Amino acid sequence: MAYGDPLLAEIESKLDANRPLSMEDGLALYRTWDVHNLGRLARKAKERKSGKKVFYVLNRYINSTNVCFAGCTFCSFAADEFKEPERVFRMTPDQVFAKAVETGTNFNQIHIVGGHDPRQLSLDYWLPLMRRFKTALPHVQLSLFTAAEIEYMAKRHRLSFPAIVTALKEAGLDNVNGGAAEIFAEPTRGKICPNKVSADNWLVIHEELHRQGIASNATMLYGHIESLEDRVDHLMRLRESQERSPGYNAFIPLAFHPDGNELSYCGWTTGLDDIRTFAVARLMLHNFDHVKAYWMIQGLKVCQVALQFGADDMDGTHGSTDEEMIYHSAGTSSGQYVDDREFRRLIEETGYVPVRRNSTYDEFPFDWTPSEVTPDSRRRPELAVSP
Ligand code: SF4
Repeated sequence: MAYGDPLLAEIESKLDANRPLSMEDGLALYRTWDVHNLGRLARKAKERKSGKKVFYVLNRYINSTNVCFAGCTFCSFAADEFKEPERVFRMTPDQVFAKAVETGTNFNQIHIVGGHDPRQLSLDYWLPLMRRFKTALPHVQLSLFTAAEIEYMAKRHRLSFPAIVTALKEAGLDNVNGGAAEIFAEPTRGKICPNKVSADNWLVIHEELHRQGIASNATMLYGHIESLEDRVDHLMRLRESQERSPGYNAFIPLAFHPDGNELSYCGWTTGLDDIRTFAVARLMLHNFDHVKAYWMIQGLKVCQVALQFGADDMDGTHGSTDEEMIYHSAGTSSGQYVDDREFRRLIEETGYVPVRRNSTYDEFPFDWTPSEVTPDSRRRPELAVSP
């Protein structure tokens, strides 16, 4: 194989021997201009994991509240209830349920995240709603919260992490979303999210979830004030966490979006940085089965190319009336919904085989439909602000 960058030959030997890559290797991958060979290595690593398959999920996506006091400097979504009440939205449990089934029940995952809202983020709100979902839609996996939300609930209910994970598991939690990881390394973390879950607690919570049989994902927010060393350090901490307590399914690189937040001077990530980040993640995280190219973040076009740079998942369709607000507040030009036929076309165009999945990567025929129909599946939510 002809290499433009001889460092990649050394790295390929390590990969072929199944040896974990070092910080220096990660930095070399980020800095190489031999992008074609970087892609080839990442593609080889992807195909070792998932062969020719590329996954997607029919899902619903809901942001249940934007009230949050954490003040992360990269965030354009959160609203201060007292300073900007006109921006606040907070859904009732009935509204969340009705929104989820507004466009039918043929989906395999519900993905919900929200802010640190003292009036909503509590077990009193969530446990009955989770049980309601599990009773009405037993085929739907609950992919709820981030570690930041779980830490917040643990604090407010004076529960240990194992105790709150047990409570959420008993109510039907299947998977925890990978958000709130941002960048683990200090001092960067302290500058971008000083009031949010610490890096150590993020990892402890995910490891406890895995010990109790709940799957999770992991993310990294890149393209703001972090260094390349911060990024590689982040990937290495995730890799070590997976060794200690396996249970992460997918890693999802999240590109920073600059509109309407304190870090807007950082601007947008470039296509090349996005593609490199997929490839470096695939190569550093040898013990993660999946790397996800989430179309909402980098856009469908970049995500399709990412499938040739190590990604093996395009995430979820969302419902045709869903309204993602976190990235749309920050300037994403991605739409709100992708028809699953479009996913299959984009995947097939790259030479891969589209596979429908749920949160835990059980596979389904593309035309699978649930047998259960809920009595209130046609109810529409009233998206008013609740008290
Ligand atoms: S990123 Fe999340 S925790 Fe941080 S301010 Fe925004 S909503 Fe709150």
